[in-house]
Amino acid sequence: MIKKNFDTLCVHAGVEPEQTTGAIMTPIFQTSTYVQDSPGNPKIYDYSRAGNPTRTALESSLAALEGTKHAITFASGLAAVQAVAQLLNPGDHVIVCDDVYGGTGRMFRKIFSKYNIEFEFVDMSNPKNIEPYFKKNTKLIWIETPTNPLLKIIDISAVTNLAKKFNVTTCVDNTFSSPVFQNPIDHGAQIVLHSTTKYIGGHSDLVGGCLMLNDDSLAEQLKFLQFAGGSVNAPIEAFLLLRSIKTLSLRMKKHHENALYLAREMQSMKIFSEVIFPGLESHPQFDIAKKQMRGYSGMISARIKGDFNTVKIFLSKLKYFSLAESLGGVESLVNHPETMTHASVPPELRKKLGITPDLLRFSVGIEDAQDLLNDLTQAAKSI
Ligand SMILES: *Cc1c(COP(=O)(O)O)cnc(C)c1O
Repeated sequence: MIKKNFDTLCVHAGVEPEQTTGAIMTPIFQTSTYVQDSPGNPKIYDYSRAGNPTRTALESSLAALEGTKHAITFASGLAAVQAVAQLLNPGDHVIVCDDVYGGTGRMFRKIFSKYNIEFEFVDMSNPKNIEPYFKKNTKLIWIETPTNPLLKIIDISAVTNLAKKFNVTTCVDNTFSSPVFQNPIDHGAQIVLHSTTKYIGGHSDLVGGCLMLNDDSLAEQLKFLQFAGGSVNAPIEAFLLLRSIKTLSLRMKKHHENALYLAREMQSMKIFSEVIFPGLESHPQFDIAKKQMRGYSGMISARIKGDFNTVKIFLSKLKYFSLAESLGGVESLVNHPETMTHASVPPELRKKLGITPDLLRFSVGIEDAQDLLNDLTQAAKSI
């Protein structure tokens, strides 16, 4: 299931014992500036927005996880999205998968549209749907797979092959899979994005983002945007991420196992009218998921039989699944997309996508799988 040597990369990549003391963990270099020997002659770093040793270690480690030459970190996942969008110029056209992360869609619609950049939201679950949308000024394709919250799977190779034909850059938001289960660069993408707030952070205690890529010229532009735009990861966040990455592989295996077990069991629970999980044979793009993912991660979406009131009662009875936005932490969470994470999606689009009042999104944690199932069962009994 896991790529060869990946477990070792998680523990060792990018991290060297600290030179003066031998400290095995990279220290938190909590400093804004660095003393120079002579004017304009810094030892390595000159100012922490431009560079910081804790961040450098983190970026080396993250690059190793996606197998890329470069990793560039940001203060949040959306700050990373913003940097990619800032590569664009007025008059450019972008094709975006239609059930993209709510905050990404909001940024494209409300911020970058103002600068005369056109965004077209397209259902990419069938790549044939995309070709007619390419225009002379199309510069970027934005993919998220699995999508949020409906866990649609987009065939990355099929889209990147098309994009190459039109000389368009593809960026894949890989947050839901984590680098453990899917590496979009291997399927032809140029840029990979993670909200490190989620699985890579894994403990619901930080906000961060990252871009990984091989292209030197694109990397240089994005590093400039990181430096000149200023939304950098703080040293403490970089340290926490370095610590989290050591257990990323272990955690993801457990998220995957738990979610697969729960999704299968939930299919036979009467309270759910539909269970959506890329690892179920019933998933419409199961074959594509099998082809491009090594595991199915820990996200399950499901529809409750009944009205919003039934949903509210069910949610109020859950003990281990806490009602909260976000995902990817060790503890299980449940989210009501319509009123929470996806409240900013235009109502007509929400309806068209199927983000209706009966839909719940579960972020399955690393607790005991049977305890989690018992929790769902006891909450269902109360209805
Ligand atoms: C959370 C999330 C983001 C945004 O990341 P933040 O760290 O919250 O800014 C982007 N894409 C996906 C898929 C996400 O889940």
